[in-house]
Amino acid sequence: MLKDLQVAALIREEHERQQNGIELIASENIVSQQLMQAMGSCLTNKYAEGYPKKRYYGGCEVVDKIEQLAIDRAKALFNAEYVNVQPHSGAQANAAVYLACVKPGDTILGFDLAHGGHLTHGSKANFSGQLYNPVFYGVEEATGRIDMDKVAAKAKEHQPKIILCGASAYSREWEYERFREIADEVGAILWCDMAHPAGVIAAGLLKNPLDYCHIVTTTTHKTLRGPRGGMILMGKDFPNPFGKVWKKSGNPKKMSVLLNSAVFPGTQGGPLEHVIAAKAVAFHEALQPSFKTYQKQVVANAKAMAQAFVDKGYKVISGGTDNHLMLIDLRPKGVTGKQAEETLILADITVNKNMVPFDTESPMVTSGMRIGTPAVTTRGFKEADCVKTVEWMDRILSNIDDAQEIAAVKAEINAYMANYPLFASDEEGVEV
Ligand code: PLP
Repeated sequence: MLKDLQVAALIREEHERQQNGIELIASENIVSQQLMQAMGSCLTNKYAEGYPKKRYYGGCEVVDKIEQLAIDRAKALFNAEYVNVQPHSGAQANAAVYLACVKPGDTILGFDLAHGGHLTHGSKANFSGQLYNPVFYGVEEATGRIDMDKVAAKAKEHQPKIILCGASAYSREWEYERFREIADEVGAILWCDMAHPAGVIAAGLLKNPLDYCHIVTTTTHKTLRGPRGGMILMGKDFPNPFGKVWKKSGNPKKMSVLLNSAVFPGTQGGPLEHVIAAKAVAFHEALQPSFKTYQKQVVANAKAMAQAFVDKGYKVISGGTDNHLMLIDLRPKGVTGKQAEETLILADITVNKNMVPFDTESPMVTSGMRIGTPAVTTRGFKEADCVKTVEWMDRILSNIDDAQEIAAVKAEINAYMANYPLFASDEEGVEV
């Protein structure tokens, strides 16, 4: 029971917002109540700098078991040989990889932020673009897809120490095999940031980057449907991930040791053991057969939405999606991303404005919006609900100055969402 009435009232307000609306932000999801219980537990009281059985604080016997459980479950989920579950977020996981693998001034090759990459992949606004020397590949204007020959040419020209694949707004499968060939050719570390599709990958519906990349990072809160957090993994290349590459770098330490030290003490202090417990719960949920069913629906819903947008005359970058998200270029409709985001929210539809490749607007305005299906699928949406959502969105975007029409759509949505509770009521468990 929350006795702080001010905070309680605000949490209730947010709960209502989530319950009443349609959540289409591709990086968001809705966690289970059991997961929230783990996160809101006494584990938050515990300091545990270090790693299981090698801590700098006493009293870590229990949290050691919790952290090990999270590691073991993540290993099973992604067929990993090495896992670090301590990064507080995706950006923290990425910071640790840089610290472990490159020195300031080294060249890194990543996916352009303006084409769907992430800030931590070399943007000048982020430490990764300030400390290192970033060069970028992007998508082709005509296809919305990455041309791997151009990636190879960029790598040859710039000889990066790291090649990064993975993105925040790319709706297609990645050609990891080709990325690995290119990385091996130039002696680069191949790193995949699978933050967005991690859950779809865990369900086996997309290729597992651990089979191809030296290092993989992820967030745990997007398609993976865990608590907000990050994680670092290595697969088949562990424990000697770099062979010739690693010898060339001259660092004789094992990559697992470097990565662990880069997380703590390199970039973080004490781990959040309550969040790590919630990660363990999420991984357990993701190991159940029902998670595969869920992810299949996530992808089916995304495909249905993308097609519905195309049918209504919207431009979907690359023409569709292989995963949980899509990027819509709104220019054919004469609406900016900012206008779309600000108008859709008036009817309780949440999206984020997003740059589209070769955008003509500024990052604060943008010509596009990014849409994802993880959260609505957790609420129980199927393809027909998603097509209906596109109809609502089109009604709003075709009438952005019509307050009455927008209010009418909002009323329909609020009534509709009452049939899709935020939390499944049939959850069973143990009070802790
Ligand atoms: N990597 C990618 C590809 C992302 O999309 C994001 C967040 O959206 C991050 C990293 C950063 O994650 P966090 O917000 O947890 O720091």
